[in-house]
Amino acid sequence: MDRRHFMMTASASLLAAGSGAIVPIRVRAADGGMQVTAAQRFRVGDMTVTAMSDGFIPLDPSVMQGIEPEGAARILEDNHYDPANIHGSVNTYLVETGGDTWLIDSGADGVFGPTLGGVAGVMQALGKDPAAISKLIITHMHGDHIGGAVMDGSSFYPNAELVVTESDVNFWTSDEIQAKAPDAFKGAFDLAKGVIAAYGDRVKTISGEADVAPGIVARPLPGHTVGHTGYMLESKGQSLLIWGDTLVVAAIQLAKPEVTTVYDTDPAQSVATRKDLLASVAGTGQMVAGMHMPFPGVGYVESAGEAYAFTPAHWEYF
Ligand SMILES: [Zn+2]
Repeated sequence: MDRRHFMMTASASLLAAGSGAIVPIRVRAADGGMQVTAAQRFRVGDMTVTAMSDGFIPLDPSVMQGIEPEGAARILEDNHYDPANIHGSVNTYLVETGGDTWLIDSGADGVFGPTLGGVAGVMQALGKDPAAISKLIITHMHGDHIGGAVMDGSSFYPNAELVVTESDVNFWTSDEIQAKAPDAFKGAFDLAKGVIAAYGDRVKTISGEADVAPGIVARPLPGHTVGHTGYMLESKGQSLLIWGDTLVVAAIQLAKPEVTTVYDTDPAQSVATRKDLLASVAGTGQMVAGMHMPFPGVGYVESAGEAYAFTPAHWEYF
């Protein structure tokens, strides 16, 4: 971790609505400055979507595979990043539609250290009660997407149905697969098992292009995990495709979609999925959002020769 940066917890820790737990809004102090985790609200037809930041993951370029470190550094520099100091956003999306409130991915909470865990505090700042979430819809069962689903072993969203792909549940709760997994990944299985146990009979598994609820359809995007899936929101002729972790390090994987990460369960499948998806949305005006796209992570994909570029959506003041 970059020593110039350190984490501090805002002195005004907040009581999370409905949970009874103290949830800090986390901020990062860099050279004396403060960065408060944030939210951004916009419309998709009649739906209100709010991008909520859980914070960031410091990314080591060694997580990328299929590219030399020098090549990765050059792409990052071309995109105005410091290759030695990459911060991967961790975003979640709150959807309000027809009296229902859904949350797509929960963020990490404390699973990956103190640079994450902002979602509960952001919800508090927005005046959103975790008890009002009717569906917690999961793109895949990695810790930075499900860690915030539980707090102290209990479900943080007491009334939410947990919507998740059957194939991810089968994979991440398998004792047999866990036993064969590298040590660094074993904890991910324990976390997934804990989340499934915490939601109990509120777990709703889906497969394929499932209709999750009116206005939201699952779009399988396998490779990053076996059940990794995106969600298409549609309302009044407008749409937003939330693509989960189709891009993990956006600058590099837009330039070179064949680059994978150590987190991919099936790297070859993740490349095929990424190439197909980027080709299908490029230049179409399809609004997309991703959990690790630079916050708020919403925008449009354009073709750029053999590669792709991402144009962020304008910040709305809706
Ligand atoms: Zn992720």
